[in-house]
Amino acid sequence: MKRISIPFIGVVAGVLAMTATRPTTVRRWTAIPTVRSESAGGTVLPAFRGSRRDDDETRQIAKARLRDGEAGTYIPEILLERDSALARWHDRPLVPVTVWVQSAPALDDWNGDYVESVASAFRAWDAVELPIRFKVVPDSAAAEVHVTWIDRFDAPISGRTRWSRDDSWWIVNASIVLAVHHQQGEVLDRMAMKAMALHEVGHLLGLDHTTDPGMIMAPRVRVRDLTDKDKATIRLLYSVPAGPLR
Ligand SMILES: [Zn+2]
Repeated sequence: MKRISIPFIGVVAGVLAMTATRPTTVRRWTAIPTVRSESAGGTVLPAFRGSRRDDDETRQIAKARLRDGEAGTYIPEILLERDSALARWHDRPLVPVTVWVQSAPALDDWNGDYVESVASAFRAWDAVELPIRFKVVPDSAAAEVHVTWIDRFDAPISGRTRWSRDDSWWIVNASIVLAVHHQQGEVLDRMAMKAMALHEVGHLLGLDHTTDPGMIMAPRVRVRDLTDKDKATIRLLYSVPAGPLR
């Protein structure tokens, strides 16, 4: 089968801790060891459904919907990054995407909470109530999405997501690799790992980066949870078909 590799993102991301400085609501940003994420991939596969957006009317409706809904989202940045083409999964509200999260106790400094950190990240995206849901399953062979671990990347990154799409821009499978250590050796704590997982699952769903530093999809992740703008952006993405808009 012919496959064309299409690099779609080259990124660095960091995670900063938002730490209470005293037992009040006053908070400030406090740097913790940098967590970086790089997503690359996007392998085009032959279309398997007759949903190619060669229908100009469909394209115009999608463009209008994006224009109407773009306030409070970073969809315009993603369109710029992708040359006006959006990738996402097909709607499958009844059949969840199955996810297997590896346990890797043989890795130095492995934290048994990491698996739950990743599972909770998938649940957080599920809570947005998209037309796609996730289900963590124990059997790797049956899972569509694999989350695996390495000690550290050779580059200053801590996570990487790859997905494949068909030639109509529908994402058909994906995988995530997370590192236990930063390139320089610091260990990611449980909350930093969840933040990284939230960011990588955002890529898996079809999101790209935003220059807004307060978003989970910022290249340097400062937040620990999805924001209203993250949620509005993914909802808007899943309100239109995948594919080029021009
Ligand atoms: Zn990223």
